[in-house]
Amino acid sequence: MDRQQEFVLRTVEERDIRFIRLWFTDVLGMLKSVAIAPAELESAFAEGIGFDGSAIEGFTRVYEADMIAKPDPTTFQVLPWRGEQQGTARMFCDILTPDGEPSLADSRNVLKRALARASDKGFTFYTHPEVEFYLFNPPESDTGPLVPVDRGGYFDHVPRGSTHDFRRAAITMLESMGISVEFSHHEAGPGQNEIDLRYADALTTADNLMTFRTVVKEVALEQGVYASFMPKPMADQPGSGMHTHMSLFEGDRNAFHEPSSQYELSKVARQFIAGLLHHAAEITAVTNQYVNSYKRLWGGAEAPSFVSWGHNNRSALVRVPMYKPGKGNSSRIEYRGIDSAVNPYLAFAVLLAAGLKGVEEGYELPDETADDVWELTNTERRALGITPLPADLAEAIAIMERSELVAETLGEHVFDYVLRNKREEWEAYRAQVTPYELERFLPLL
Ligand code: GLN
Ligand code: MG
Ligand code: MG
Ligand code: MG
Repeated sequence: MDRQQEFVLRTVEERDIRFIRLWFTDVLGMLKSVAIAPAELESAFAEGIGFDGSAIEGFTRVYEADMIAKPDPTTFQVLPWRGEQQGTARMFCDILTPDGEPSLADSRNVLKRALARASDKGFTFYTHPEVEFYLFNPPESDTGPLVPVDRGGYFDHVPRGSTHDFRRAAITMLESMGISVEFSHHEAGPGQNEIDLRYADALTTADNLMTFRTVVKEVALEQGVYASFMPKPMADQPGSGMHTHMSLFEGDRNAFHEPSSQYELSKVARQFIAGLLHHAAEITAVTNQYVNSYKRLWGGAEAPSFVSWGHNNRSALVRVPMYKPGKGNSSRIEYRGIDSAVNPYLAFAVLLAAGLKGVEEGYELPDETADDVWELTNTERRALGITPLPADLAEAIAIMERSELVAETLGEHVFDYVLRNKREEWEAYRAQVTPYELERFLPLL
């Protein structure tokens, strides 16, 4: 037993923890949980806990049905919403096959493999996400109209507004679980909020995002409202993006920083951006995985639709945020395509792989776009070499299907599963006759 494991056992004893939830994530990014009693902890650390993988999205290969969840003691946290007495704690797990090999269906393992590849080149990958989400009054029915909790807009204070208390409660809970929050504010849509997590290595950030979505949903329940990370819940209001800031470090040094060059961006940073742009269309089915994600990407309201980069240009897919002279370690780039409903493990893995490919192959960074790319005509965009992101899930899947980069990064099992699952989603979606069609065409035809 190592020191971390001993620490967990001692804490469970001292804090009177009655249940330990073992958390992991399915291929679509849904949190899965199995609770064990403290008496089971030692054997969970030694051998893991068996479960039936065939019942979990993306783990479905019958001959691999027996899976093992092995808790990572460094992720131990007490769950504040379960109370102090006879409490509950959680740990994230790695998923293993019965012979102790990392499972090919485990998203966390996909990200670990991508990080190991970066680490072979001497890089650590840091991310910091800005998570947007909506708060609605509890719906009267599953299909009832959505009523946002307020009518606030960007940075609005919303006097005595419920979202203020909401953010305070959510952030307090996150911080008590060791997740630091940098900023939070009301976003542009009514009832829309944003909470930005402090940067951390990508595996920690991905774990933190899984916790984040759970905490936000729990606090919403407590306050009698409903939180949603759906990318575009209302057609005429902004969608919920999850802009992700990224940097590579070599030891303590930010490899994206070079004081003497434009925007203080190093060659590595420029090549990394070039990689993201070059592979953006291929990775979109992962960073924007639902039919609904494309309603956000093509619905205006500051969501990017075209592949371009810029300095402080909010129509760009990749933005170089304002840099602070003398603060080289904060050099970073922001990917604005990704939305709040991602599987963060898979999304960070493909973002990293795309960027690193640019570094490995020495891709040339195209010129930045100074204009608002939505204002340009198609001809102007073509002349500037600005291509569109996939228009819908079907196009995104068709492009991903041919991507060696995504196949390699996700591994064959996850790659095939995502494609199969997303094709099914698209087929089911396109078979619908929507209220829009009935309203528009029934009176005419
Ligand atoms: N909600 C916008 C999006 O979908 C972002 C708005 C912003 O943070 N500037 O990406
Ligand atoms: Mg923001
Ligand atoms: Mg925002
Ligand atoms: Mg942003």
